Amino acid sequence: MILLDTAPIEKTALERYVAPHKPSLIGLSRAQLAEALAALGVPERERKMRIQQLWHWIYVRGATSFDVMSSVSKGLRAQLDAHYTLARPEVVAEQISVDGTRKWLLRLPGEVEGERPHEVECVFIPDGDRGTLCVSSQVGCTLNCSFCHTGTQRLVRNLISGEIVGQVMVARDRLEDWARIPPPKGEGGPPSVAKAGRVGSGSPSSQTPPGSPLRGSPPSPSGGGIRKITNIVMMGMGEPLYNLEHVRDALLIVADGDGIGISKRRITLSTSGVVPMIERAGKEIGCMLAISLHAVRDDLRNELVPLNRKYPIAQLLEACRNYPGASNARRITFEYVMLKGVNDSIDDAKALVRLLKGIPAKINLIPFNPWPGTRYECSDWDQIEKFSEVVFNAGYASPVRTPRGRDILAACGQLKSATEKLSARERMALRAMAMTDE
Ligand code: SAH
Ligand code: SF4
Repeated sequence: MILLDTAPIEKTALERYVAPHKPSLIGLSRAQLAEALAALGVPERERKMRIQQLWHWIYVRGATSFDVMSSVSKGLRAQLDAHYTLARPEVVAEQISVDGTRKWLLRLPGEVEGERPHEVECVFIPDGDRGTLCVSSQVGCTLNCSFCHTGTQRLVRNLISGEIVGQVMVARDRLEDWARIPPPKGEGGPPSVAKAGRVGSGSPSSQTPPGSPLRGSPPSPSGGGIRKITNIVMMGMGEPLYNLEHVRDALLIVADGDGIGISKRRITLSTSGVVPMIERAGKEIGCMLAISLHAVRDDLRNELVPLNRKYPIAQLLEACRNYPGASNARRITFEYVMLKGVNDSIDDAKALVRLLKGIPAKINLIPFNPWPGTRYECSDWDQIEKFSEVVFNAGYASPVRTPRGRDILAACGQLKSATEKLSARERMALRAMAMTDE
């Protein structure tokens, strides 16, 4: 039942969510921006142009204050400043892994009565020309997959669109990944460079400077520069299809060619299998799809991904066959976490390729990332190779995802916001596990 799939979280924490006194414009659609401008008395004939200007300053230049918007009249800037902000989530901690992966712990604006400020994690994974940002869709997750650390977090609420786009904004701030282009003729100078916010001291990231030398790939369609964040994966905390509307609104902003401009082919949404929402995701977002499959038999998948009891493998694969836009050029990724002695036999590999027959698929083998207290172990490397060979011989590209950022608990399934912090002892245990594993 569709209602059951979207409602339980909304009815609790989000209903009690109180937005900040002055809301941020980040995450508003063009239509919502038009409403905001109308409420400020901007005449209708001017609104389209004003929205274009705001969009450019916010999503191409990374403006953090209205002051710098030299193409916008002073009067309107003052009005905007009186009613809105351009605040992003606040960076409360930044960790950089030995492999260059960066993880940010972000405190969300607004509050939920009677609760501490909510926090999520967001991870940047640089890899040559590609830079992937792993974005969260919920605080925690309700689904309790038995191998996933996020699923053990008690506190859960859906993120609103601005909090999802806000993660991309913060990452661009911290990576100095905003376009630095000469201002159009007639405009004032470039956005003023504010003093950098200090990380770890609770200072708002909205004070970090936009604009700086650019490197990476590929060129931004809108900004005339080279981007560091080239890909987005909805693979952070939470189940994105339990928060479809906000995830959709956020991803449409991220993909907008006049702004951040990351193409939908470079955005991947990963789901544990919320079958009734898969078609809508394809139609309403149109990004790439990844399925957390992890097992080829219902009895085992019921144990690993308990949502399987509601939507078993056959139903899930049927939804994949019908995923709008899936083709050999736009394959669906099937994620398969390698758990020693649980799902990693050669028979499992053979069954996997049989199961996916007829679906335009890629298979992504993920070495299990351990976390303190887990009952699973990562498969041995030679077993992962044997498994991968079966998959490869059946005609599938079968990249094994190299674990990244394990030392800072930033790898797949290790995210768990400091709302419930690990003890120092747990962190040490984890580091020791990661080292002996590699
Ligand atoms: N909730 C969504 C997206 C977030 S999880 C989903 O489940 O698809 C992102 C990916 O990390 C999923 O494929 C998930 O199964 C995988 N994952 C979770 N815990 C993991 C772990 N400990 N080691 C490796 N991968 C893990
Ligand atoms: Fe939630 Fe995905 Fe973790 Fe399962 S694997 S508990 S759906 S975040």
